[in-house]
Amino acid sequence: MKLDFHVHTNKSIDSIIKPKELAAKAKKLGIIPAITDHNTIDAHGVLLDLGIPFIRGEEIRTDRGDLIGLYLNECIPKYTPFGEAIDSIHAQGGLAYLPHMYDRTRKGVIPSKKETKKLDIIEIFNSRCLSSSYNNQAQKFATQNSKLPACGSDSHFLFEFGSTYNEVPGFELDDPKALLQSLKKAVLITKSAPFFVRGTTTMVAVTKKLLKIKS
Ligand SMILES: [Zn+2]
Repeated sequence: MKLDFHVHTNKSIDSIIKPKELAAKAKKLGIIPAITDHNTIDAHGVLLDLGIPFIRGEEIRTDRGDLIGLYLNECIPKYTPFGEAIDSIHAQGGLAYLPHMYDRTRKGVIPSKKETKKLDIIEIFNSRCLSSSYNNQAQKFATQNSKLPACGSDSHFLFEFGSTYNEVPGFELDDPKALLQSLKKAVLITKSAPFFVRGTTTMVAVTKKLLKIKS
């Protein structure tokens, strides 16, 4: 089973991925995406209608930076305090996944000891990290704190989706505990996104803002 824990759609201001096109590519490649739009879960309904398997996620901009919730039914508001956001994810039966924690250019959060204990998964490879040292540091952090490692493509464009994923033994997708068990035996397939991608994303966000495009 192949899983990508970090994928955006055009419900994020800086992504242009159409859910329909993502669904088609996911089906073709056999990769199950976690839909992790910025501060919204609006794409979940669209993906449900498209009938492909996916994990209902959100990338939450907390008061200190980014945190991903997996298996969410309700949106967690922007700027929720970081520790509170972890608790809200768990209160929904979800999993707290810390993305690009050492990437200072992209609102990574370095958690306290107490917060670290509560986190379920550490993203040790994010395809969009400009410096591989950010990923290496995250990997070291996960090992030192005995946290489950995983990778995410952080796709904002369709071409980015498919090169980075976690290959895990099959499990019941709707069961977060089963995911954690399965992830212990994961093989991480990773590939960095081309260097120009990040700047392009900023351009998309700016253009969308100027045109006041909502999706
Ligand atoms: Zn992201």
